[in-house]
Amino acid sequence: MKEKIAVFPGSFDPFTLGHENIVQRALVLFDKIIIALGENSSKKYFFDIEKRYRMIHNLYKDNSQIEVDVFKGLTVDFCKEKGAHFLLRGLRNSSDFNYESTIAMLNNKMGGGIETVFLITDPGLSFYSSTVVRDFLKAGKDCSSFLAPAVWKEILNEV
Ligand code: ADP
Repeated sequence: MKEKIAVFPGSFDPFTLGHENIVQRALVLFDKIIIALGENSSKKYFFDIEKRYRMIHNLYKDNSQIEVDVFKGLTVDFCKEKGAHFLLRGLRNSSDFNYESTIAMLNNKMGGGIETVFLITDPGLSFYSSTVVRDFLKAGKDCSSFLAPAVWKEILNEV
């Protein structure tokens, strides 16, 4: 049977426990999950691409079902390159849904039938976002409760 590969694309600036929860729960659905860091040259990131890559790589380095990669350009082109027929995304609220549903339809059309699989956030993590973590970090707050220990450790090495 064909391997079920999903790409989980995002900025992951930084990768939070909300993201981790989505990956963890999706592991039973797919043979392989590729966490794909989007690199958009016109977008300003808080953590550079090497740092964001290291945070996620350190977290999953012992899990052969999970790969971490970086891509530029269209997500559907990256999926094709990787032989992935699924996109994985998380939904926290209706704003996420409104935005994500349009993108999912476009990706399905442009990506030759690629399917986006949505997982609803764990209720206890619904208010976790990279934006909140960045704002707290700028204010010098301890963000360890929003992040996996490996990610927090990587951040402490720099901030
Ligand atoms: P992007 O810039 O593509 O929105 P993000 O890194 O912000 O990338 O998010 C990647 C994915 O993770 C999105 O589908 C987003 O909805 C989801 N996500 C982020 N935080 C949570 C959370 N707390 N619970 C569930 N899904 C989440």
